[in-house]
Amino acid sequence: MSMLLFKNATLLDCTGSEPVPSAWVVAEDGLIKETGSGKTPRFSKAEAVDCKGKTLMPGLIDAHMHASLFTNDLGELHRRYLPSMGCFMAAKILEDTLHQGFTTIRDAGGIDAGFREAQKRGLITAPRMQVCGRALSMTGGHADVRLPTELVPPIQGGMLGVIADGVDEVRRASRELLRQGVDYLKVMAGGGCASPADEPDTTQYSPEELAAIVYEAKAAGKTVLSHNYSVRSMKLCAEAGVHSIEHGNYLDRETARVLKKHGCWLVPTMATYDIMARRGEEFGLPAYFFRKMKDVQKHSENALSIAFEEGLKIGSGSDMVGSGQPYKALEIELKARVMGPMRAILCTTRDNAELMGISATTGTIEAGKYADLLVVDGDPLKDVRIFQDREKLAVIVQGGTFVKKTV
Ligand SMILES: [Zn+2]
Repeated sequence: MSMLLFKNATLLDCTGSEPVPSAWVVAEDGLIKETGSGKTPRFSKAEAVDCKGKTLMPGLIDAHMHASLFTNDLGELHRRYLPSMGCFMAAKILEDTLHQGFTTIRDAGGIDAGFREAQKRGLITAPRMQVCGRALSMTGGHADVRLPTELVPPIQGGMLGVIADGVDEVRRASRELLRQGVDYLKVMAGGGCASPADEPDTTQYSPEELAAIVYEAKAAGKTVLSHNYSVRSMKLCAEAGVHSIEHGNYLDRETARVLKKHGCWLVPTMATYDIMARRGEEFGLPAYFFRKMKDVQKHSENALSIAFEEGLKIGSGSDMVGSGQPYKALEIELKARVMGPMRAILCTTRDNAELMGISATTGTIEAGKYADLLVVDGDPLKDVRIFQDREKLAVIVQGGTFVKKTV
């Protein structure tokens, strides 16, 4: 495999260190081999990339995306698309996500381990990924896409959820997902916005069902992510031992402390509410979805402020669906309003890698890690919106291979 030399860069290695001017990074066989600053050593075999005036940093990580949610009305997924079509659509979304600078993602419900393996084998151009397959949902829960008026059995299968009720059923569904090679389980533990028959400020699943799901995940050496908005659902999940609370918009101080006590991560997903609240009408969101998105959006910044002040472990995800899919980097801008640009960028790189248990291989620019790199034409610490301008993403490298190269 080839050797790459990135030189004359401002290096933002995302370890938490300040940027280093006149830096160089060498990658060989897909891994970062060496970094330094000052006079660039000679590497005669290396292909050089001149990063003058640009920032070299690790590829971004989106820790909450849904490759399979390509419509604005999730009910359409089952009614209008065959699963094969869903796979092609999801693959396109993954490819575009890589072109947004995200070299690694965590899918929060929808795609199975086949996607992860297809990426590893080079069958699809996509970020490295962790997957949970279908999300566990109770009848009438967040992954039950039936309208309240539909008197038909829940839709099983497809690329969203599995409906399971009671300890025995959730246990069997968990074991089935684990058998299929998922990286973690996702549980819909409260109402949501995209589902037509529930409200965000509620709980779903009993403590016994949650405990059974966590038990089965832990038995297989895996973790559980939970979808929550309400404080009561967050507390139930933290007490049940889930690894990360996703969304968490109604977080208050008392609940933040409960999460902290249990070592639970919070993964706020602000971008999807922001864009849907602003552009929902233009995107043609169903009325129930638009109404709920506008409401939870009002709380999202406050939740992050509380989490940040209380010192929670914070990950970062965009949760973009449908027409929002091309705009995942908006999340960094929204987080930066609360945390400042450096912390928002660290959330999206180093901290997401820790959340996902992959710090040893990615998330920062350090020798031995994957050469998953981004060359940004400008200074993201001065303007974090730069990630939203694809023309400013001059070079994207994944495993030492160019995904994009404009210099
Ligand atoms: Zn989600």
